[in-house]
Amino acid sequence: MTINVSDARPVVVQKYGGSSLADAEHIHNVAARIQLRRDDGVDVIVVVSAMGDSTDELISLSEAVAGGTQPDAREMDTLLSTGELVSSTLMAMALKARGCDSISLSGIQAGIKTDAVHGSARIADINTDRIRTELDKGRIVIVAGFQGLAESGDITTLGRGGSDTTAVALAVAVDAERCEIYTDVDGIYTTDPRLTDKARKLSEIGFDEMLEMAVLGAKMNPRSIELGAVYDMPVYVASSFSSEPGTLIHGGEQTMEVRKAVTGIAVDSNVAKITVRGVVDRPGVAAGLLKPLADEGVSVDVIVQNTSSDGTTDFTFTVGQASVVKAAQLIEDQSVIEYAEVITGSNLAKVSIVGTGMENAPGYAARMFSTLSEAKVNIDMITTSEIRITTIIDREQVQKAVQSLHDAFELEKSQ
Ligand code: ASP
Ligand code: MG
Repeated sequence: MTINVSDARPVVVQKYGGSSLADAEHIHNVAARIQLRRDDGVDVIVVVSAMGDSTDELISLSEAVAGGTQPDAREMDTLLSTGELVSSTLMAMALKARGCDSISLSGIQAGIKTDAVHGSARIADINTDRIRTELDKGRIVIVAGFQGLAESGDITTLGRGGSDTTAVALAVAVDAERCEIYTDVDGIYTTDPRLTDKARKLSEIGFDEMLEMAVLGAKMNPRSIELGAVYDMPVYVASSFSSEPGTLIHGGEQTMEVRKAVTGIAVDSNVAKITVRGVVDRPGVAAGLLKPLADEGVSVDVIVQNTSSDGTTDFTFTVGQASVVKAAQLIEDQSVIEYAEVITGSNLAKVSIVGTGMENAPGYAARMFSTLSEAKVNIDMITTSEIRITTIIDREQVQKAVQSLHDAFELEKSQ
């Protein structure tokens, strides 16, 4: 991506999600906020998602007309891109109605170029000339999120929740001061507030930690965080319904709060596991079993393999709950690796403690496991990274696990 540095006024990119744009009244409330931000003396680019559930409604419509066949990917992307065209044009009208000069731009008009992967395209480059021209005219620029143009000349979309990615990519391309994501949650919490009332909003979090939290379930598109991390673009997440301070995700110097060893507890409650029993213990087993899944786009997460004395092994891995039937079928259909039987287990969850402060500091795993054992939570599988310790447990025990870990690592306190 090319970065254009100009000596114009500082630029801020704001993004508003679908629930913040659900109807005319919501759109006007957001327009008022945009206007206020512009009064701070900055140039404002706004990225919008589709109104309310309109993307889901378009998907339902496409399924209804496709009558059981797979809707065409190219048509699907053009169809879905219309959701953001609706919200961006209405937002420009709302701003004009408030006496604020503004213009809406589709992804194409905003110069967003992507690869050709319909349904999950990646942004390749952004030509910001048009945006710059409009900002220089003193306008607020509203960009339709989630969409771009492939070299073929066809419209693409970036995958569900892709407007976050549009916003961070635009912020990078125009060298914005920061990217502000306004949504229906008011920031990043130490854990899911529905699981414990002691969950605390973080004023800041590092990119690495946020990536772990996002991938493991906290509500934020991981691709946008990755982009922020790579280009060191600070991302501020806050509520579009209040003026409460949100959370700044950044890669800069980390202050006391982030320096706590454990920053948060990430939870993913949609986990299932597959155990392939009696696999011959020889090179190529993992590759042979998992390749058909990779080919079919099924992501495998935690993997555990036991060695055993009789020359066979049990090979266990987790997948998302929605993929378990397909994954088991793919294992049964392959004929490269011999095995005794495939067993599936559902209703599992993944609970992880996350924090850069755990790096090189021993003892956190032991403390996590003893906390879970005191809470009588059985651990099914374990995996770790430098800044994360993950356990797979029974879904019914998630709340108990999260509450006891939140207490044990004193996450309700800010230092
Ligand atoms: N409207 C798209 C979706 O619902 C993109 C987005 O909201 O970011 O997934
Ligand atoms: Mg949406």
